Amino acid sequence: MKAMMLTRVSDLRDDRNPLEMREVADPVPGEREVLLKVLACGVCHTELDEIEGRTPPPRLPVIPGHQVVGRIEETGGGGGRFKKGDRVGVAWIYSACGRCKFCRTGRENLCVDFRATGRDVDGGYAEYMTVSQDFAYAIPEVFSDIEAAPLLCAGAIGYRSLQLTGLRDGQRLGLTGFGASGHLVLLLVKHKFPKAKVFVFARAQKEREFARELGAVWTGDTDDASPEKLDAVIDTTPVWKPVVEALRNLDAGGRLVVNAIRKENVDQDYLLKLDYPVHLWMEKEIKSVANVTRADVSEFLKLAAEIPIRPEVEVYPLEEANRALLDIKERRIRGAKVLKV
Ligand SMILES: [Zn+2]
Ligand SMILES: [Zn+2]
Repeated sequence: MKAMMLTRVSDLRDDRNPLEMREVADPVPGEREVLLKVLACGVCHTELDEIEGRTPPPRLPVIPGHQVVGRIEETGGGGGRFKKGDRVGVAWIYSACGRCKFCRTGRENLCVDFRATGRDVDGGYAEYMTVSQDFAYAIPEVFSDIEAAPLLCAGAIGYRSLQLTGLRDGQRLGLTGFGASGHLVLLLVKHKFPKAKVFVFARAQKEREFARELGAVWTGDTDDASPEKLDAVIDTTPVWKPVVEALRNLDAGGRLVVNAIRKENVDQDYLLKLDYPVHLWMEKEIKSVANVTRADVSEFLKLAAEIPIRPEVEVYPLEEANRALLDIKERRIRGAKVLKV
């Protein structure tokens, strides 16, 4: 099969084509696994973190991609939940041990043996992939392959982030950064909390316009002060400045949820601007979001189908994965990016 493989960890600014198209052997499904013919795979900012070494794959080469929509070609032994021809999705959680204290208490996202799709094992930037039946999700009919892909990470992690904010209807939510996840969170909030107000902080004028089209009550630049103090903020940016600025905009008792697997260090100095009375005093909280559970993915898919959420997508052919990644790096963003396989 054809696959876009990550063969080296490097800086995308100097190495603009870190993925190479290669011909590799088709994967073979093991016990309780399924073989998928990949139809579409979302492109995520986390892939930049893998390529640039902030969360490097434990072995190279590896096939990236963790928002995979595919059709089952073959099922391995052991029977199970799906049959040949079913359309299923694969998300960032490829497996968890099922035995540790986290797995036993509904927190498999924190599992000591958490394995990530497309980093710890081969993912969906390829014609085929295998996955355990227990870590695949039926894709609701209402979504096309392309639409479903970004729901599997950007949507699911956005859903988890929103849960972690503890937001209630009528409250004020800030979103710093407005890429794939931010725009899905905004759509979700409008459905779940129709009286909540959403304030969007984004650097690019285009992102701010897009946020207003989708119903943000106010938009501004990352370091603008929001016109009202916020009950919660979700940060989806790769840098530090928005964290500090979000804390300033939080109301007393407010919570900042940081949804980023790693932060870049380019503006780490900005953290020195932290002023205790301005940014932290009055019981302000900071919480990070780590990975997703299977429940996050399936609950979000169900909700997204009911609403229904139609993600904005930009499509690239598989062989142009490098271009899609560069567009994310260089912030040519509107909605989510998806590879058509
Ligand atoms: Zn992702
Ligand atoms: Zn575990």
